[in-house]
Amino acid sequence: MVSIGNISNTKNAADEDELEPAAVPSTNVMRRSRPVVMGLASFRGEVGGGSRSRAKAGRPPAWHRIDSTVLVAVTTVPGRAFHWGMLHSSSARSRFAVESIALVTVNKNKMVKKGLLERLQEGPVVGDGSYIITLEKRGYVMAGPYTTEVIIEHPEAVKQLHREFMRAGADVLQALTFSATDDRLSSPDAPGNETGKSITCKELNSQACAIVKEVVCDGDVLVCGGLSNTPSYAQGKGKAAVQQEFSKQVDSFMEQDVDFLLAEFFGYVEEAEWAIEALKGKGKPVACTLRIGPTGDDSGVSPGECAVRMAKVGADVVGLNCRFDANTCLKTIRMMKDALEKEGLSPYLMVQPNGYLSPETEQTKDGWTSLPEFPFALETRQMTRFEVNHFVRAAFDLGVRYIGGCCGFEPHHIRAISEELSPERGGKLGEASKKHRPWGGAMKSDQSERDFMNGKDTREYWESVKPALGRPGFPDVQAKLFRQ
Ligand SMILES: [Zn+2]
Repeated sequence: MVSIGNISNTKNAADEDELEPAAVPSTNVMRRSRPVVMGLASFRGEVGGGSRSRAKAGRPPAWHRIDSTVLVAVTTVPGRAFHWGMLHSSSARSRFAVESIALVTVNKNKMVKKGLLERLQEGPVVGDGSYIITLEKRGYVMAGPYTTEVIIEHPEAVKQLHREFMRAGADVLQALTFSATDDRLSSPDAPGNETGKSITCKELNSQACAIVKEVVCDGDVLVCGGLSNTPSYAQGKGKAAVQQEFSKQVDSFMEQDVDFLLAEFFGYVEEAEWAIEALKGKGKPVACTLRIGPTGDDSGVSPGECAVRMAKVGADVVGLNCRFDANTCLKTIRMMKDALEKEGLSPYLMVQPNGYLSPETEQTKDGWTSLPEFPFALETRQMTRFEVNHFVRAAFDLGVRYIGGCCGFEPHHIRAISEELSPERGGKLGEASKKHRPWGGAMKSDQSERDFMNGKDTREYWESVKPALGRPGFPDVQAKLFRQ
């Protein structure tokens, strides 16, 4: 992604009002919050030597010609060519112009940050968590239609959740573009659509990406544009019609210059293959996850064969998301990994499981949605942060390198992922870990009135705790599912 670009005719490239005050030292520039890259600047002009002492003596400065190329710090500013403190000067002590600057960046609007594949090569990547399900609980989304319209209706609510995942330590924020195709977006009179109008794919996807970019700002977090299964596929409209829906989303992602592309929540590997085809060739890494369990996709293709097919069509990252819980996903992704290895394929593995434990759904196609409690009475099934720690370690040991969460993964779960993987990430932690110590580490107290905390500051203690239902007589798991 990084290349040398050349900007010539500098005075035209940066208008007067875009310039910093002349001669801002580069050290000051470096302290600014803007992304900083290095560039090679060619100066032509004159610099006045000894100007202050000569001025005191009533003499003009001694002028020296400059004709050199030096390494300089350049700040990139969204919407502008570049910002730099010494682009030109015509003070009493200098008069020169910069003829050209070769910037060591390909995109003038963003800082140079490591891409997804580079990060995965170096170690684990922490994904983000639940959006639609969490925003439903917070009162911004209607269950049933699961109104992605929240992007237009309540952008502040979406931004806040993005911020919380970023603070928790996520390396990636996914734009909230789930199911945001023209063939699915609801009509003006659909339940839960408060806007009173039809929202287009372009409008929603563009705003969703813009919101994430605003939250990420200058941070070292990747922006992901994601698409998912379409009604057009379910209705048998064929490959061209399905890919037409995808391409409209992809156009928005490219316009917004997201960092990588994701195809997720596919029940049929065939549709996932079509999605990967639509995403490839755009110059962005492509990840793809299915919402399947150990029984394979909705047409019976095994998890292993699904993974091989996704890799062969060009996905850089393959894996699972959403429907099945963490333990079930570990079983399924092991099947994927074994099949990939047999074929000599080595895409990165990714898992973003459901945050609600549902072992009795393992052999179903629908996972958690087949529970009688879905979607309004699932609270007792939600993973604890400690269960997330265990899941993350097992996934990492299995070779999974992109680990996040789907429905039910709240910011504190993402913090648990970040903290569990901190040793593999050079000690990296999110801001939210300033308010947390793993395994109850901050529960120490020698104040007698706070005895309720004493003894709860060890991993041994929290690993021994078995959370209870609090409802005597209730089953541990459902003997009968809502849909078998
Ligand atoms: Zn989900």
